Amino acid sequence: MMAAETANPSVSIQDLSLNFGAVSVLQTLNLDVAEGEFIVLLGPSGCGKSTLLNCIAGLLDISEGRIFIKGKNVTWEQPKDRGIGMVFQSYALYPQMTVERNLSFGLRVAGVPKDEIAKRIARASEILQIEPLLQRKPSALSGGQRQRVAIGRALVRDVDVFLFDEPLSNLDAKLRSELRVEIKLLHRRLENTMIYVTHDQIEAMTLADRIAVMRGGVIQQLDAPQTIYNRPVNRFVAGFLGSPA
Ligand code: ADP
Ligand code: MG
Repeated sequence: MMAAETANPSVSIQDLSLNFGAVSVLQTLNLDVAEGEFIVLLGPSGCGKSTLLNCIAGLLDISEGRIFIKGKNVTWEQPKDRGIGMVFQSYALYPQMTVERNLSFGLRVAGVPKDEIAKRIARASEILQIEPLLQRKPSALSGGQRQRVAIGRALVRDVDVFLFDEPLSNLDAKLRSELRVEIKLLHRRLENTMIYVTHDQIEAMTLADRIAVMRGGVIQQLDAPQTIYNRPVNRFVAGFLGSPA
């Protein structure tokens, strides 16, 4: 189905295909994400959500198509040059470094001046309430705290687009709902573009401006949560997210 036209999209994916060998994982996929929009990619395990996110991040080379970020063709740009920050399911923190070091490491490598690094860390740790944790090592943090630090690492990079790959799925139910609320508040405060992968219907319904429901490497429906819930385009979407018949 055709998505509504998005003027000056923040992220534009055009006719993207990705094959692993002879297997087609993403098929001529199109998606425009508006500036400041919160898009959730929702679908069952194996439908290609992570693959699509990794293509946007530049961690996978695509087979066909083009990817634009803020109007710039980044299809062949290095991940670090795409203006994106990514948060994974596993926290991927450096175990031997303090939280502060984890936050500053990438910035030092990129040559960001020291006082600017300090400023960004102060802001991110205030937003994420991790100031008391800055001198700890990851092993001394809870799962929820580690995931906050992982989000902080994307935040200090001062990027336009955040990509999340199931950031809450390793957490217990209580922490999951707490961090869900925090991510929503974070988005309200930053007003940046977020593309968020999950297989969790509740996360999708509460976080998304629009949900892209995926199946077999294809977007089946792209609409506001209420529209998808009330008017699923087919049986698959209805079964996955639609209102109970
Ligand atoms: P999701 O994140 O929706 O669970 P993935 O994007 O991880 O799904 O995977 C989509 C499909 O691509 C799956 O069938 C998976 O087995 C396949 N796949 C993922 N990575 C590779 C790879 N490196 N080589 C071959 N097949 C892969
Ligand atoms: Mg995945």
